[in-house]
Amino acid sequence: MRVVKGLNVSKVAQRAEPVGRHYIAGQWETGSGEEVLEITSPSTGAALGAIALGTQDDARRAVDAANASRSALAGMSIWERSALCMAIAERIEARADELAEIICAEQGKPIGEARGEAGGAAVAFRNAGEQIKWLESASFPVEDGAKRAMSMLQPKGTLGIITPWNFPVALPSIYYLGPAIATGNAFVWVPAPTTSLCAVKLMECIIEAGVPEGCANLVLGEGPVVGDALVTHAQVHGICFTGSSEVGEIIARRGAGKAQLLELGGNGPSIVFADADIERAAERIVAGAVGNAGQICTATERVLAHADIHDALVDRIVAHARKVAPSLSTEAGCVLGALNNADNAAKVDSHLAEAVAGGARILTGGGRAKGLPTDLYYAPTVIVDVPPQSALHCEETFGPVVPVLKFSSVEELDRLCAMSPMGLSAAVFTRDVGNAFRQAEKLRCGIVNINEMSSYWEMHIPAGGAAGTTSGHGRTGGRHTLREMSDLKTITFHIGD
Ligand code: NAD
Repeated sequence: MRVVKGLNVSKVAQRAEPVGRHYIAGQWETGSGEEVLEITSPSTGAALGAIALGTQDDARRAVDAANASRSALAGMSIWERSALCMAIAERIEARADELAEIICAEQGKPIGEARGEAGGAAVAFRNAGEQIKWLESASFPVEDGAKRAMSMLQPKGTLGIITPWNFPVALPSIYYLGPAIATGNAFVWVPAPTTSLCAVKLMECIIEAGVPEGCANLVLGEGPVVGDALVTHAQVHGICFTGSSEVGEIIARRGAGKAQLLELGGNGPSIVFADADIERAAERIVAGAVGNAGQICTATERVLAHADIHDALVDRIVAHARKVAPSLSTEAGCVLGALNNADNAAKVDSHLAEAVAGGARILTGGGRAKGLPTDLYYAPTVIVDVPPQSALHCEETFGPVVPVLKFSSVEELDRLCAMSPMGLSAAVFTRDVGNAFRQAEKLRCGIVNINEMSSYWEMHIPAGGAAGTTSGHGRTGGRHTLREMSDLKTITFHIGD
């Protein structure tokens, strides 16, 4: 068995019929590779199937198909593209139960969250279909009376879309696939290997709705192989990537010169001031840590608590965390399911171990849950006296963990905030409106939620990394993504005197 970073899959010899196949140039096919990856459920440990492992040649063929066909999508009227998005939403709704079951089995999240995710994917296509109809561009006053000037929004061309495993169906739909189709861009999509079967099902919905042949392509496989082939292909005009800051940096370099929409890691602070509603803050902080088992880019990653209320807040956080027990993801009522893969679980272990070695104290949780089918279930963990320089504080942990640090002054708070290079989201808990706005304006991140957990978001709200941080650039969310995926073309006319 070969374990690749981020994969809980084994690479085995080619089988006659893998369950997951590529969709290239209007055909489902097994590709030119000779190997498949077997996928095991993080929730139950059951074998779920295998995927054909793509090669660079498969990715390049998909790009060629997209380029040869893209005028078919670009040439549809906006009303026709909007109707296509609505038809995809209907296909997703018709297959929502099936999608939810595979999300739960393959990603590891509770079945209730998986149902929400499938429903969210349908809404994403509806939103893209609605908003594209009302997206305007401008005409410009000019000095020369014999001229007129206007701009129009055009598709960028062919997009290379690379996505992670934490929301394998909703995230690609919201951030990229719905907006790409609405704006008339052809695409090649490379999903995360550990959630490939989810991607195949979503792609089936897209194809069943009647996207012009060759304009939507799916290539399964390892990121450094098939993903890199997209990033470096001269005929890929834009790269849409969501994933870790580490891989985002590689992609930014390898794809230099192309349009890039990069949504990367987060380590947003949840700041609790002395005047905050402690009970609400504690409840929201725990909710933000256990949703999707903490595997959300905007999850509660670190709590910065004012010294005056630190102990009272920690008591309430522990009380809320103890109400949540990991349980079988597939069972109704599960609130905290499995982590997606062994590498991620090992990262959570190592961040906790390093902090404890540096003097931190675990008040509840602190390791894998027992008595469940896999060792990927993690107990909700509250840890205090966390060393500020530890990875638990400065990096993204991506597990159901609440690390709490203390601050006594605004200067100390500013120093702690600045210790992480990331800048995606933050939460501020205070009753003082002026203080809330001062903090919101000062924090270097794309979204600040006041008196709400850092992961609160609705899919039409702009979100993304702040400039100068390692959380990416560009904005996803409703019409902001539609603009990111469009090129602004200026046209001037000489109309004569
Ligand atoms: P990852 O960076 O390991 O992988 C993301 C994708 O990139 C996968 O499909 C992977 O196969 C591919 N990939 C890996 N190496 C590549 C390479 N060299 N070239 C091209 N593609 C490559 O991330 P992950 O572990 O799948 O996802 C978790 C990360 O995603 C977290 O850091 C999380 O914060 C981030 N994320 C960010 C947002 C956001 O909106 N900012 C949303 C969700 C997840």
